[in-house]
Parts: sequence; structure tokens; C-alpha cells
Amino acid sequence: MKRIAVRNLRLCTKDCLCLYVCPNGATDTENSIIDTSKCIGCGICADACPSGAISMVPVEYPAQQRKSGSVTAAMQRLAASKAEEERIAAAIAAATGASGLKRLMKAVARSARLSAEDIMREAGYMLPQSGNSLSLLQELLDNPPGNGFPKEDAAALLAAIECNDGGYTRPDAGKRKYRCSVCLTEFEADGEEEAACPMCGAKGSKLERIG
Ligand code: SF4
Ligand code: SF4
Repeated sequence: MKRIAVRNLRLCTKDCLCLYVCPNGATDTENSIIDTSKCIGCGICADACPSGAISMVPVEYPAQQRKSGSVTAAMQRLAASKAEEERIAAAIAAATGASGLKRLMKAVARSARLSAEDIMREAGYMLPQSGNSLSLLQELLDNPPGNGFPKEDAAALLAAIECNDGGYTRPDAGKRKYRCSVCLTEFEADGEEEAACPMCGAKGSKLERIG
């Protein structure tokens, strides 16, 4: 399995050993992010790093293991209760004037959030590349749980991550974009059918593919 090195900037203590040992100069970058185009996956930097800041990760992840429906449903109920716990603790923290209680409730809220995230991974939403994770993200994008939901970030993630198990199909999959050279209308058409401009009816060589 091909691997590449990834540096965790929060753990990096900047003693620069990885810069000396890398045979390809992949660790020596302006932004501290290891250059994946130069990394050959030898792992020497990860072995040399005294802070454990470098991990070797697969370039392509294998498909996620499947969980049975009853396990997934139970875990989801547990995650939902943790989310409710977080909501209650955050509300108490926001309402109280007692600094000790505020700190305690903030810690409880944070702990509940981390537990819920862990439970969701255990429930089978481990890999962002998996069909169920991407479908969940699509569902959240289509029906945002609140005004604070980061729709643009969710859409950018969906566009950037390729599904690795065939369990998710983009809503616009199979759509093609055209520009009509007769009336300059831009439109989308199903990839299966012969495209025709919805304004003037032009077809074939009169249409330019733009996406
Ligand atoms: S060897 Fe580790 S701690 Fe040192 S600069 Fe590299 S990543 Fe950071
Ligand atoms: S795995 Fe090897 S090539 Fe890649 S950054 Fe580390 S030392 Fe350099």
C-alpha cells in the first residue's frame, strides 16, 4: 500500500530533524506541510521525529468495514443522546454566572462532543471517503440542522472527496454543461441524452461542452 508522510503541526517542536533526513526535500516547505508530490513514502522522517509529529498514511484507503443495521442504529441513538447532553451543558454554561459551574459545563459539553464523534466513527462513519459518510454530509447539506451549519464547507468537502466504495453518487453525476453558440445560453443536460438548447433548440456542433 503506497503511503505518504503527514506532519501534525500541533505536535511539531521544530527541531528540524526531518529536514535533514528526507532524501527528497519533501519536508522542507514554506508552509510546513510536507510536499506530497515529492514524498516517496520511505518513512525515514517519521522514524527520526522525536515528537511523534509525523505519521505515515495510505494514499488510498481501503473500503470501510460494514456494520450491521442494529449496531449502527444503537450507536446513532447513543450519539444523539450525547448531542443532547452537549446542548444542555452548553445552555447551562451560557446561563450561569458562577465561574466554576460555567467551566465545568463547558468541559462536559466538550467531552460529550468528543464522545459523540467517537461513537459515530464506531457506528461505521470512520472514513470520509466512505459512501455512508458522504451520504450523511449530503443529507446535512440538503437539510441543514441549523443556521450555523457550514454549508459552503460541507459543499467543498463533498466536491473534494472521492467515494471509495461506490456508496455515494453525486446529485449532479451524469450532468453535462453546455454553452449554445447560437443564443449563448448555458445549460445542463443529462449525459445519457442528446443535448439540445432549451432556448433555441440548437444541437450537435452548435453546442460547446463547458463542464
Ligand atoms: S522532526 Fe518532527 S518535530 Fe522536528 S521539525 Fe520535523 S516534524 Fe517537527
Ligand atoms: S517519508 Fe521519506 S520522502 Fe516522504 S517526507 Fe518522509 S523522509 Fe521524505
